Amino acid sequence: MSRSEELYKKAKHIFPGGVSSPVRAFGAVGGTPPFIDRGDGARIWDVDQNDYIDFVLSYGPHILGHNDPDVLSLACDVARKGLSFGAPTEIELQLGEMIVSAFPCIERLRFVNSGTEATMSAIRLARAFTGRVKILKFEGAYHGHADSLLVKAGSGGATFGVPDSEGVPDAIARETLTLPYNDAQAVRDLFDREGDSIACAIVEPVSGNMGVVVSDDEFLREVRTQTERHGALLIADEIMTGFRQTYGGVQILLGLEPDLTTLGKIIGGGLPVGAYGGTGDIMKKIAPEGPVYQAGTLSGNPVAMASGVATLRKLKTPATYSILEEKSRKLADGISGAGRAYGLPLRINRMGSMMTLFFSENPVTDWSSARKADTALFRHFFQEALKEGLYLPPSQFEAFFLSTRHDDAIVSEATEKFQRSLARTRDWIDRGRPESRP
Ligand SMILES: *Cc1c(COP(=O)(O)O)cnc(C)c1O
Repeated sequence: MSRSEELYKKAKHIFPGGVSSPVRAFGAVGGTPPFIDRGDGARIWDVDQNDYIDFVLSYGPHILGHNDPDVLSLACDVARKGLSFGAPTEIELQLGEMIVSAFPCIERLRFVNSGTEATMSAIRLARAFTGRVKILKFEGAYHGHADSLLVKAGSGGATFGVPDSEGVPDAIARETLTLPYNDAQAVRDLFDREGDSIACAIVEPVSGNMGVVVSDDEFLREVRTQTERHGALLIADEIMTGFRQTYGGVQILLGLEPDLTTLGKIIGGGLPVGAYGGTGDIMKKIAPEGPVYQAGTLSGNPVAMASGVATLRKLKTPATYSILEEKSRKLADGISGAGRAYGLPLRINRMGSMMTLFFSENPVTDWSSARKADTALFRHFFQEALKEGLYLPPSQFEAFFLSTRHDDAIVSEATEKFQRSLARTRDWIDRGRPESRP
């Protein structure tokens, strides 16, 4: 028995599913999740000393790879002065100023501890600001696990075929309206019918939680136009896309001007952080200035703020995003070339350094097309990739990422590993897709 298998057996007694977050349990792909011991740059090592090229990157935060020396150095300096005070700190102001200057649509913000808290609080704020109750989200979009948002919520639930969670009262779920992603006509129709009772629409400007699905212009424009026309707020959930596609939000690249934006992942550089922000007239409703209560013992934690500050500083170098784009395109080209060569139904949805390999005959543009993907084929491919030393998210419906530490040599090495994994996936099809051992 490997050390990971040993630990996993024990962990299953202590934690539901042996994990602290569901997708990590490998339920959709089978086998034992490797227990990770350490990471450096683009690589991670498990407790059995297997090494992997990491494309999970903690589900997005590590855009600078693991153990960036500048991030570690600032975080450690700040940590040595005390881990938390429950009082204002200068480093929190510094990160706040950096975010405000990177986002034309954020004038003021509030730090929280996770993405879930950010979206949950932004929705409470939107409801208070408009005096309305209903919210609109899109099918397959994940905005964290708050009750109102666990409706048709993509990857986690999707992976296990549980669309909604038990324990969410019908009375709450009923106030969440859902529409297909990328369907501008459906947005028009809904707002025509009941736009005046909608507090807000929340949207991932590029979806990452049904796998990567890029939005089309007309769809985003319609969401903005209709919310504005009917006095509803637009919340751009940029927890995954913030600082992933450009310095600031992907909203800048897409010309989207939301009322509120939610952030997380990269702005904490690998430590727990979330934030929500927007125009001053809306944000002044937050306590203690206004009547919308929202608080946090560890919010704005100085060590997490330092990790964020050092990360953003480093990302600000002009060529960061063009280099990431170039390496990501190279990798995607290499993978899709192999997909064609082996006659696999492979579609790569990509925006910048986030992408998903869908095993699908048809283009994936929304949740209903995403869920038609061949998950058995993905499962087999995933196991081949893991054996090759590629650490990918263990679900067809997740995005994977590159970091600035995925240099040309690593991208070439990874491309060959992807190619061999795809070749063996082809063999498996040719052998009649035999059931693989667990
Ligand atoms: C990760 C993510 C969340 C949830 O963030 P947590 O920190 O896991 O609570 C919300 N929305 C989007 C778009 C995300 O990618």
